[in-house]
Amino acid sequence: ATPTALLVGTGRGAQLGILIKGPEVLESTRRVDTVVLDKTGTVTAGQMSLVDVAVAEGVSREEALSLAGALENASEHPIARAVVTAARAEVGDLPAVENFTNVEGLGVQGIVDGHAVLVGRTALLDEWSHHLPADLATAKADAEGQGRTAVAVGWDGAARAVLVVADTVRPTSARAVALLREQGLTPVLLTGDNEAAARSVAAEVGIDEVIAEVLPKDKVDVVRRLQSEGRVVAMVGDGVNDAAALAAADLGLAMGTGTDVAIEASDLTLVRGDLTAAVDAIRLSRRTLRTIK
Ligand code: ADP
Ligand code: MG
Repeated sequence: ATPTALLVGTGRGAQLGILIKGPEVLESTRRVDTVVLDKTGTVTAGQMSLVDVAVAEGVSREEALSLAGALENASEHPIARAVVTAARAEVGDLPAVENFTNVEGLGVQGIVDGHAVLVGRTALLDEWSHHLPADLATAKADAEGQGRTAVAVGWDGAARAVLVVADTVRPTSARAVALLREQGLTPVLLTGDNEAAARSVAAEVGIDEVIAEVLPKDKVDVVRRLQSEGRVVAMVGDGVNDAAALAAADLGLAMGTGTDVAIEASDLTLVRGDLTAAVDAIRLSRRTLRTIK
């Protein structure tokens, strides 16, 4: 490949809203056959809002929101932002949190008003033997079946509430997935979120292959496993938890709306946070390299 032809491709990329780290990047794009898409913040907008609160018998919605909101106030997670906004609107000032811990990919824990509080996946609450009562488990399963994310809240030794947050699929995601398929590429949805919510979002945008409930540190292993099966992998992500996977992929694409860490780990940045630009990038590189040959 002559450097001049590759640079022409790079310039065209800028016009399409794609920032390419270096001309050589387009070379690796050519053989890509699998495109791994992170769910939250990539296929979806990542702007969550609290849409439902289910509480156990004898528990008030206000108490659940106050304790969960206070704890989430120390977290930067999109779920946390949604919970804090709703809690502030409903209960006003939130109590302080002590001994806050973020359990990567699982949730958060800390002390609020003298209560040990946990918010997150049931796997986290189960570690503390805070098992969900049947009615809350049903509320959680129903929400997840609708593609929503439901987190459990536990305090004083039991799981006592479920918070349901909703995200929106980006308007261009389904079209981008269809265009990827037209290019002969296989889309895969990868997420730390639960299987049911992941399947629902996948169905909405037209993805068949779903890898869910993957801890942040394990996303890179998923990419490596696909590569060891002989697949040439492009990964599209936005979060700090995607950085290692973006770096390990044959081609890493970051959403321009994402974190700096993800952008730094990537070969390409989709400036507008629009997944159809990923298809343009792959098409562009194929066309550029055809010109060179
Ligand atoms: P994703 O891969 O979709 O970006 P994460 O790995 O960040 O997701 O989180 C995976 C899951 O862990 C979330 O869906 C949620 O159930 C739980 N979780 C993580 N952080 C928090 C938090 N601050 N509050 C509540 N739940 C959390
Ligand atoms: Mg994400």
